[in-house]
Amino acid sequence: MGQQDRGWLARTLGTLRALFGAGIGAEPGRATAGGRFPDGAAFRDDVLARYPFTPAAATILRTVPFAVKNLSAPVGGGGWYGPDGRRIELEGIQDEAAVHELAHAWADLAGFYQERAADGPPWPILHRPFRADVHRAADEPDPRYGRVQFLAHQYEYGDPGIFENDPERFAGLASGTMGDLALMPSYLARWYDGLFVLPEVMR
Ligand SMILES: [Zn+2]
Repeated sequence: MGQQDRGWLARTLGTLRALFGAGIGAEPGRATAGGRFPDGAAFRDDVLARYPFTPAAATILRTVPFAVKNLSAPVGGGGWYGPDGRRIELEGIQDEAAVHELAHAWADLAGFYQERAADGPPWPILHRPFRADVHRAADEPDPRYGRVQFLAHQYEYGDPGIFENDPERFAGLASGTMGDLALMPSYLARWYDGLFVLPEVMR
C-alpha cells in the first residue's frame, strides 16, 4: 500500500475484521506461536510455503526484503514501499497482512499494472480490465463466491469506495481469499494466475 492509502486501508481492515474476525483465512494457532521466526525473512518464507503462491511468484517474492517489527505476535498492518523502495515492513507476524503486502509487491514486480496514473507515481498502478471484472464480481449472484462478492461490493459501492485504486483492489482480494482462487469466479481468478495457483477446473 502507498502511504496515502494507509487511512483508507485501516478503515477497510477495521470493517473486515468486524465482519470476519482478525485473521481472515489465517490458520489459528500456527501464526501465533511466539518466537518461532528468527527474522522477517523466515516469516515471509513460511507464509510463501503455507499459502498457494506459485513457485515463480515465491521465487520473486523471496528477493523482497521483509522486516517485521514484532516477531512474537500476529499484529496486523504493514506496507509495501513500491518498486522504488522495494521492501515490505509488517507490524507483526499476521498472515493476512503478509499475503496482502506480498500481493502488492508481486503486482509491481511482475508488471501486472498496465497504465500510469496522471497524478500517480512514475510506474503503472492502473489496470482497467481487472477493475471491470471486480466491478462485475460486486454483483456476482453465485453464493460460492459470496465473500469475494461482498469485498468487491464494498470496493465498488462502499463509502468511501475505492475509486481508481487498483492496487488495493488487487491486494485486498488477495488477502481476502488468502490465495484460494476457488473463492473467486473464474473471470476474476484469472488475473491472479501467476501469483497464486489456479484451481485445475479454471485452467
Ligand atoms: Zn494495501
